[in-house]
Amino acid sequence: MPVSAAYHPEPAFFDLGPEFGDAVRSAVFPEHRLRFRNDRAAADVGLADLNGDEWIAHFGRFEPLPCQPGPIAMRYHGHQFRTYNPDLGDGRGFLAAQMRDASGRLLDLGTKGSGQTPWSRAGDGRLTLKGGVREVLAAALLEARGVPTSRALTLIETGEALERGDEPSPTRSAVLVRLQHSHIRFGTFQRAAFFGRADQIETLVEHVRALYHPTVAAGDAPGLLWAIVAASARLTARWIAAGFVHGVLNTDNLNVTGESFDYGPWRFLPFYDPGFTAAYFDHSGLYAFARQPEAVFWNLTQLAGCLKLVADAEPLTQALNGFGPAYIAELRAAFLDRLGVKSLGEAADQRLLDTALALLREGGEALGWEPLFHDWFTGFSSSARALAGPRGKLYQGEAFDAFRFALFEHEPDRPERLEHPVFSGSPEDLLIDEVEAIWAGIDKDDDWSLFEAKLARIEVLRQAHA
Ligand code: AMP
Ligand code: MG
Repeated sequence: MPVSAAYHPEPAFFDLGPEFGDAVRSAVFPEHRLRFRNDRAAADVGLADLNGDEWIAHFGRFEPLPCQPGPIAMRYHGHQFRTYNPDLGDGRGFLAAQMRDASGRLLDLGTKGSGQTPWSRAGDGRLTLKGGVREVLAAALLEARGVPTSRALTLIETGEALERGDEPSPTRSAVLVRLQHSHIRFGTFQRAAFFGRADQIETLVEHVRALYHPTVAAGDAPGLLWAIVAASARLTARWIAAGFVHGVLNTDNLNVTGESFDYGPWRFLPFYDPGFTAAYFDHSGLYAFARQPEAVFWNLTQLAGCLKLVADAEPLTQALNGFGPAYIAELRAAFLDRLGVKSLGEAADQRLLDTALALLREGGEALGWEPLFHDWFTGFSSSARALAGPRGKLYQGEAFDAFRFALFEHEPDRPERLEHPVFSGSPEDLLIDEVEAIWAGIDKDDDWSLFEAKLARIEVLRQAHA
């Protein structure tokens, strides 16, 4: 048997029927070259035992895994840069399978670049290899930095030549498979609302509640909204603490479980810069670093609007109003987590958040974003290392003193982690120049060594913090 006893298929979304997705077939690719295989993720869902041929059969040719009905392209609409677009849906991906992981979480296997669907419109249904490489890298570092994220399961180069306006063309093709809790988007609800289908909204509410937010009572749409608001606030706070700019926070790119996914023009922040923008086409800075909370909130208001078809406005508004306080609480928690210290109550935690942000602002380009978290991990125990390190001379003055005071108030969280060798090295970042250098190696010489070495270092980082 190609799958192990840890494989627990449960194709729940497929049971919602043809109004929510369309049966599709994968493109037939001229070749399949395995470029990345995530056996840790595969093991979580019982797929690590697949041999090389079986892996390609399931994730390159998309022969259905046992007890899975075959791919469906999910239907959804969405607001793109605040403009409603009914011409969306899975245009270059599909839901390939669903299964439970070892902890009982339902996970989707979703694709990107697997071919055309009824929702492709003028698109070719393909993913560029560079786009695939970028998604693998982003997901890996986000996971290591404690952000709820999809994980890349595999990247397979497919041997086609693609034409793209934003890459030197022709450019190489690939198909990516990702694992994530849910691919049900805010835009999935928007499509049902667009057609006035209260019955479909009810179906979605019950499906999402039962599978992803089971503590919410049946029929309690405002309760479900609140669960999604809370998960989205947590996600947004973790992006900020990780110094991450998603780049395209449209309602079709936010899901009901509060995990980020669909990493296109993302960037990590080089240094404190609220207006830092990732996507070259985001001319107004709508999705800039510090505007991400506002963007997510705006998207949540659209989801709430859809739920008005099945619930009263008042409790929905109340749920929405919880976003701001939830976001601030999550931001405090995310900074504590990144700095490796324990909570000391709201006031002290807020002081740490405020002073860390003030120091990051003052330190600017010289300090950077990531180095502060690396240098001061677990607080007091890092003092000697931080002060003697390459940024030691930046750690002085009023902003620093306030930060140090607030940090040292907090008890270290598992300070033994500091013994890991990653903390005697340099911070592990993933800024645009490095991403481009990794890609240049692949592009010019088919040299995957930088890519592989980077992923290996990110994995070490993840383990060091775990
Ligand atoms: P994204 O910006 O990747 O979230 O995609 C927005 C919409 O465009 C989704 O409906 C995608 O399926 C669709 N799309 C993006 N690229 C392609 C492509 N190459 N072929 C077909 N559809 C695409
Ligand atoms: Mg998308």
